[in-house]
Amino acid sequence: MKVAVLSRNKNLYSTRRLVEEGINRGHEVHVIDCLHCSMNITSADPRISYHEEDIEGFDVVIPRIGASVTFYGTAVLRQFEMMGVFPVNESVAITRSRDKLRSLQLLARKGVGMPVTGFANKPDNVPELLKMVGGAPVVIKLLQGTQGIGVVLAETRKAAESVIEAFMGLKADILVQEFIKEAGGADIRCFVLGDKVIAAMKRQGAEGEFRSNLHRGGTASLVRITPQERRTAIAAAKAMGLNVAGVDLLRSSRGPLVMEVNSSPGLEGIENATGKNVAGMIINWTEKNQKPWKTRTKGQ
Ligand code: ADP
Ligand code: GLU
Repeated sequence: MKVAVLSRNKNLYSTRRLVEEGINRGHEVHVIDCLHCSMNITSADPRISYHEEDIEGFDVVIPRIGASVTFYGTAVLRQFEMMGVFPVNESVAITRSRDKLRSLQLLARKGVGMPVTGFANKPDNVPELLKMVGGAPVVIKLLQGTQGIGVVLAETRKAAESVIEAFMGLKADILVQEFIKEAGGADIRCFVLGDKVIAAMKRQGAEGEFRSNLHRGGTASLVRITPQERRTAIAAAKAMGLNVAGVDLLRSSRGPLVMEVNSSPGLEGIENATGKNVAGMIINWTEKNQKPWKTRTKGQ
């Protein structure tokens, strides 16, 4: 196969590993930085030029689009799809997963369990919003946040009201969520590939920290997941339309609850915690499933 890894930086662990495993299996692999791609989007014959040369002959594109380049990155991916190149994750699915609110709405529609979540745009009904999610303690999340930044635990009604008002005053979009105390500052990252969970790790927040993000000092370890957790992770990835997904679950007293579905799940943490060759499994899956013109949505 001729494979394009759509990534801004060939030195990133995940990008490096995909290139390495692709080459190990005899494929031709190129790292393409979406910001150096230009496209004539009006042409009936869709093309992409990269550093002034036409991109040609690719069978597969593996998108590794960072959150900060979602808009342009998914546009380039859409162009690949219009050229008939098989995308490991489709542009539409990535766009869905990047919008926390849209993702949660899709998961709810498919009956996937999640923490009770409320959303409001105006501060005039903060008490109502708090009541909707069962009252304090609550978790308040900035919709634009990543890596745990902008995720706040408000333990009392007063604290919750002030934080919500402050965020709203800054015109930030937020959601308010029931606090799953019994998760104990840990979450489970399930790495979904196709219709299987191929690796899972538990991330535990630092002492006294309810957020388990590795960037916030959390630590990762191998974990055995239950059949129900497995089913939930697979259903969440499917609801988003993602072939490759990092599904984050909280272990609650009413079963697994989905917090988030990542469309470019990092490989370093999961490969280190589990000792599995996740990059190699992605390449194998791609070999078996790639077909030209197979994109379901063609970017719609
Ligand atoms: P980000 O996308 O910035 O990582 P998350 O929504 O994943 O934000 O939240 C960061 C961390 O905070 C999670 O990994 C989890 O450990 C914790 N957390 C988030 N939401 C809740 C919740 N409703 N109840 C308990 N813990 C939560
Ligand atoms: N790489 C990040 C993770 O695995 C998320 C990337 C995304 O926004 O999809 O948590």
